Amino acid sequence: MALTPTPRRRSRQVRIGHLFVGGDAPVMVQSMTNTDTADATGTARQVFDLARAGSEVVRITVNSPEAAASVAEIRERLDAMGCNVPLVGDFHFNGHRLLTQYPEAARALAKYRINPGNVGKGSKRDEQFATMIDMACRHDKPVRIGVNWGSLDAEVLARLMDENARRAQPLEAAQVTREALIASALESAASAEALGLPGDRIILSAKVSGVQDLIWVYRNLAARCDYPLHLGLTEAGMGSKGIVASSAAMAVLLQEGIGDTIRVSLTPEPGGDRTREVVVAQELLQTMGLRSFAPLVIACPGCGRTTSTVFQELAARIQSWLREQMPVWRGHYPGVEDMHVAVMGCVVNGPGESKQANVGISLPGSGENPVAPVYVDGRKTVTLKGDRIAEQFQAIVDNYVVRRYGAVPSPAENPASVGA
Ligand code: SF4
Repeated sequence: MALTPTPRRRSRQVRIGHLFVGGDAPVMVQSMTNTDTADATGTARQVFDLARAGSEVVRITVNSPEAAASVAEIRERLDAMGCNVPLVGDFHFNGHRLLTQYPEAARALAKYRINPGNVGKGSKRDEQFATMIDMACRHDKPVRIGVNWGSLDAEVLARLMDENARRAQPLEAAQVTREALIASALESAASAEALGLPGDRIILSAKVSGVQDLIWVYRNLAARCDYPLHLGLTEAGMGSKGIVASSAAMAVLLQEGIGDTIRVSLTPEPGGDRTREVVVAQELLQTMGLRSFAPLVIACPGCGRTTSTVFQELAARIQSWLREQMPVWRGHYPGVEDMHVAVMGCVVNGPGESKQANVGISLPGSGENPVAPVYVDGRKTVTLKGDRIAEQFQAIVDNYVVRRYGAVPSPAENPASVGA
């Protein structure tokens, strides 16, 4: 029997557009655009790309009157493209004004993200927070109270620092800051409920940029409330560092059943693809056995037994081809996302790993016969050779998908099966 993570922590369930977060809903993948929201065409295009890559909710910044004015158009453009992904508005500083002055934006968004540290200062703070909660209540929208290490509510932090200073044995400042993150999230949620926002319309996050800090903060947040939790390492960084840091932090928490929706906050390389953060989030959940999104390619790392790049090229080609098929396969071939395809470099582990996969190929290592046995459902079916191994293997996988995951014919379409 396969090993699985600890059962998910029990949380309330919150509706975002046509989807649910928390409760028994699967852990959701989110992302955020980096376009100027005032550019409705460019933003709608990027939201579409993120959704097509698998982002189930997409956040856009709403930071100016121009941005707020284009939110409804972005929604319309997406609808016209057949894309119903819920849009979340990210509000800071002027959110109270934008939500009030642009009701069409308030209606078009499926959720509002409010950062309690950036709502306002002094006497304005409570009033402006209340205005945003009031808009959420009027428009029946859920809210994510999203606390961030980099914009922590200064008043909460100062209060906890003062309390700490009066302790007989004061805690370290970093510990007080972590406590302040949690306090800011929980106190803001309590205020929102006191202002009339139902508890099942609140999601919490408390993002930090350090792996150990994130684990500590979320473990404690999870123990102190039953709101769904949005998980993510903020400012994770670029490339492998960002991926490793996000995965290390979130994997520990997800393994403990903590986290109802995730975002991998990768800094794209210049000219890089924004959808990478979606792929990383999906692969994190899939490799942990929490969800399935696309067939997995199992490939060996290669070693001195592989003198050519043939197997690396085939593994890369099959991986990208499988992902490209998913928007269509998802509808036609239910269950295909659980398929495993092995692409192995030589006879040492090739046949064994290929037999474990749905479809596998063991390419010839240096000094081996230049042939590539293919295994389907654990049995060797054919041996490929020559210059067209990649195309032939791709065709075998394609045929397997149609045969294994295609619609099962009804008895009327397949009379021979009646009574079988
Ligand atoms: S399967 Fe063969 S080529 Fe791949 S890592 Fe193992 S020994 Fe090396």
